[in-house]
Amino acid sequence: MTLRFYNTLSNKKEAFKPLKGGVVTIYNCGPTVWNYAHIGNLRAYIFADILRRYLEYRGFRVKQVMNITDVGHMTVDEETEGRGEDKIEMKARKEKKDPWEISRFYEKAFFEDIAKLSIKKAMVYPKATKHIKEMIKTIRRLIKKGYAYEANGSVYYDITRFKDYGRLSGNTIEKLKAGKRIEVLPEKRNWFDFALWKKDPKHIMQWDSPWGRGFPGWHIECSVMSMKYLGDTLDIHTGGEDNIFPHHECEIAQAEGATGKRFVRYWMHTRHLLVNGEKMSKSKGNFYTIRDLLKKGYDPKAIRYLLLSGHYRIRLNFTEKGLKSAEETVKRLQDFVSSLRGIKVRKGRNPNIKKLVQKVKKGFEEAMDDDLNVPLALGKVFDFVREMNKAVSEGIGKGDAKLAYETMLKFDTVLGLELGKVKLAVGEKIKIKDSIFTIHWQGIKPNPEVEKLIKKRGERRKEKSWKEADKVRDKVKEMGYILEDMENGVRVKKA
Ligand code: AMP
Ligand code: ZN
Repeated sequence: MTLRFYNTLSNKKEAFKPLKGGVVTIYNCGPTVWNYAHIGNLRAYIFADILRRYLEYRGFRVKQVMNITDVGHMTVDEETEGRGEDKIEMKARKEKKDPWEISRFYEKAFFEDIAKLSIKKAMVYPKATKHIKEMIKTIRRLIKKGYAYEANGSVYYDITRFKDYGRLSGNTIEKLKAGKRIEVLPEKRNWFDFALWKKDPKHIMQWDSPWGRGFPGWHIECSVMSMKYLGDTLDIHTGGEDNIFPHHECEIAQAEGATGKRFVRYWMHTRHLLVNGEKMSKSKGNFYTIRDLLKKGYDPKAIRYLLLSGHYRIRLNFTEKGLKSAEETVKRLQDFVSSLRGIKVRKGRNPNIKKLVQKVKKGFEEAMDDDLNVPLALGKVFDFVREMNKAVSEGIGKGDAKLAYETMLKFDTVLGLELGKVKLAVGEKIKIKDSIFTIHWQGIKPNPEVEKLIKKRGERRKEKSWKEADKVRDKVKEMGYILEDMENGVRVKKA
């Protein structure tokens, strides 16, 4: 099957082919560093990570750029023109710090958070404040071409001059004209024109420009920095669904106005993460950070799993119950991989294993090729785990186990759950009535008494004498140990 992605620009799935052979260029809208990222933001970055990882799985070389917004993003950003206060300066005012300190602090926190979630690092993370010169250059170009105009020390983009405005979001010039007006600055030609450069003496972060001192608007940084690092035409641009309008619509107007070339070939947008049916957002206060969840004792791999397991074009409602179940699921995968590593039996090949591996590879790749259908791909992986566990309990050889193990690790280059780092199950394989059974001694030395009882309990269970089996478990408990059943094995812990 061919690789296909849903393109927000055409509202349909399109076959994906990069502009230049085996190299894919990707730009991701990154964080505004005025606060900790919440797990909704992180869903957008995990999607970007899965996209990049799957392209690499498919043999492409990926050039990925993610920006860091450290100036110009206003508290009200749903309309063409941002209003309110610069988010970073608002936070600085509240905390009585300077804005540079705020952005430095939260940028560092952002990198810590994405590392916790095993998100691969982009090629570069350009910052808006480090690209003021380039932004000014592009703004001058837009003025020269008649797309932008200076007024009273600010520069605005005249949306009516860009005929394609609205192609991405549907908010065409006609619709804007008919829509609800927001407060009008008399200096603007049209009330919906957005600022490329703003004059505001109250703003703390200021730079010199041909139009006097001021600061850049939010949208211009992404057009300028993406083209600087990736060229005038990008293969893929991503962001959360809230970025479609006005941010990405304005990015297109700026970039295509300046270069006259197509800006982005495939626009991909992640649907929101919700809490109780509402968008998780910092301004609503209904958000969880990864820090909150780690403090509560959740495993970062489970958080990653939860955020990647839904389809990126379907909204995902976050609950702690869902997170707990993600934890169980990750444990199942880890147990499976570690049990494969534990198989040391030199036995002949089981021809079924190779077939199972071929089947799961095909299923996984077909699902991922179809617009990154992760839930379907995971379904295929779990079918494989189930069928393999059955085969393992019947006994498979080292070679087959290795094949299955390597297949899982290959999938994990996309999933990023670091299954290869799972510790090898400590403990021995024992035979219970012809099946192989693993005892995992969790941080404790093997105890021959307990082992005998585990074997006895296993036999009772095979005979379906559940009551007898439970009695043995109680006895083990009296000795100070807890037994946790796993597929084809048991984990033993100190009570
Ligand atoms: P910001 O830090 O506000 O600039 O947002 C960073 C990224 O997170 C952008 O791509 C947003 O579209 C995305 N985003 C914000 N809220 C959510 C959410 N609740 N679910 C998914 N993505 C989001
Ligand atoms: Zn952006």
